[in-house]
Amino acid sequence: MLSFKNQIALVKALLSNLQLIKVKPSLNWFLAKYMGKFKLINVGGQLILHSHLPSINSKAFNRFINEHLLGKKLGPSHAQISLTNVCPQNCKYCYNKNRNGELLNTDEIKHLIKNLKDMGVFWLGFTGGEPLLNKDLIEIVRNTGDDCAIKLFTSGMNLTEQLAIELKKAGLLYVSVSLDHWIEEEHDRIRGYKGAFQIALKAIEIFKRVGIHVSVSAVISKEMIKRDRVDEFLKFLIELDIHEAWLSEVKPSGEDFWNEDSVITENERIGLLRLQDKYNKEGQITVNYLGHFEGREHFGCNAGNKMVYIDAFGEVSPCVFTPMTFGNIRDKSFQAIFYEMKEHFPSESNCFINKNYGLLKKYYKGQTPISKEDTLEMMKEVSFSPMSEFSRLYYKQKNEGSIAVKLYRAFAFVSAVVFAIVGIIFLFFPDAALVFFNKWSDHFGLPRAPVQGNGFYLTLASAYMYIVTLLAYKMYRYPEQRIYPFLLTQAKLASSIMSIVLFLKHQPYLIYFANFLVDGFIGITAIVLMKTQKQEYDYADENNESLHTGISQKEKTE
Ligand code: SF4
Repeated sequence: MLSFKNQIALVKALLSNLQLIKVKPSLNWFLAKYMGKFKLINVGGQLILHSHLPSINSKAFNRFINEHLLGKKLGPSHAQISLTNVCPQNCKYCYNKNRNGELLNTDEIKHLIKNLKDMGVFWLGFTGGEPLLNKDLIEIVRNTGDDCAIKLFTSGMNLTEQLAIELKKAGLLYVSVSLDHWIEEEHDRIRGYKGAFQIALKAIEIFKRVGIHVSVSAVISKEMIKRDRVDEFLKFLIELDIHEAWLSEVKPSGEDFWNEDSVITENERIGLLRLQDKYNKEGQITVNYLGHFEGREHFGCNAGNKMVYIDAFGEVSPCVFTPMTFGNIRDKSFQAIFYEMKEHFPSESNCFINKNYGLLKKYYKGQTPISKEDTLEMMKEVSFSPMSEFSRLYYKQKNEGSIAVKLYRAFAFVSAVVFAIVGIIFLFFPDAALVFFNKWSDHFGLPRAPVQGNGFYLTLASAYMYIVTLLAYKMYRYPEQRIYPFLLTQAKLASSIMSIVLFLKHQPYLIYFANFLVDGFIGITAIVLMKTQKQEYDYADENNESLHTGISQKEKTE
């Protein structure tokens, strides 16, 4: 977590959007914890955590809340479009290699963007090739509108100060300049272009002067990770005085990287998460590592589900790193292609391509993306992981119909009502309960408890009943949350144990013994039911396709 001052700034910014109150508390809690890891910065009035999310005081962020968190739109939230395949540089790891066809024209791109936004996209990445080589870039940015965060991925080639000013005026929010190494010769070698390093540095300076949020997008080599040199790289980026380091590892999108040695291991990913947290805590630069945002602990891999990529020729892929196509927007509507693709793609916890790249070897025929026919064949063989933490919370409410969940909720509801009634009795008829138990005490040959009117302990007991009523109600209202049954069980078992101790050590009053039995039973039942319905949720995570994709059978047939 960051400084208290930062937390206050974040809370103030979020409170300006009252719609957040309507979001499920579990999702809000998740977002608060996630966002709390980043320093909030103000760039020209835009309050920014990192460039994978819109600024939190923007229309785009409101759309994230209204259309996705509340509206549960089925469409994508994030999209990337290649604005040209032309690029003078020649990166080893380029995901757009070996693609060709007829480039999308500006009208087609504008129409596509309108479709994407209608379907829910609030974050749009313009990539390439080199997108600065698209002569209509300013018009495309302007046309996108201010209700969608726009990020430009560039090598910096062709940038002038005037162009940067125009882009800012048109509404460009974020820019990422590619820089893969702090050693000039190394960067030029990786990008297959002499002078690429100096071009990137110059572009960074221009964007900074103009006042746009600037990040460096760096593709971290396996070698840099293995030799623990990412730290060194980040220190270099701090010296550049940029806002953010947008990091990703090399992905196995192209044949040069289709081997185990090239793919990041889970331990290496965790190492980078730690590094990110360390730098973000220090606050000199925001580090935004893709494996953190798309990690199982956070939003997971949403390729083909909430993320989509459209290449410069109109082919639709799950994400930039997945060289497969589900169709071309010139042949079929984008909506139809996307929903067909989404049926195949659950929201999952691990990077799809890191896991399934081996299958590309089988279907690759020298051309990317692999054809739609081969893509569909490949999809029969791929495997997916369970949901990420965010998706688990996001989709969970659709599982409230199973018997285990219904039973759990019924138990919680009845308990809440009974606890509330007992609380009222303690408060307004303090001696009624004792009179009742004393009648039965004679029957069992136990001593009668002294009947007292209202007093400190009964008031305390009323307060206790109020707390357990609230916990039981929360269990009923948010069955996916495990904290409420956990707390209720603690409260009830503690009360049960205290009662039996009093019964055995103090006085053998019937009310003590009854409380020992009743609270013990409630505590144990709550934990057992929680476990049963937890299995239900976990099972759904792995097996229920509609939970994964967000598309039900009914919606599919429609
Ligand atoms: S496959 Fe998923 S996690 Fe991997 S790069 Fe694409 S969107 Fe990100």
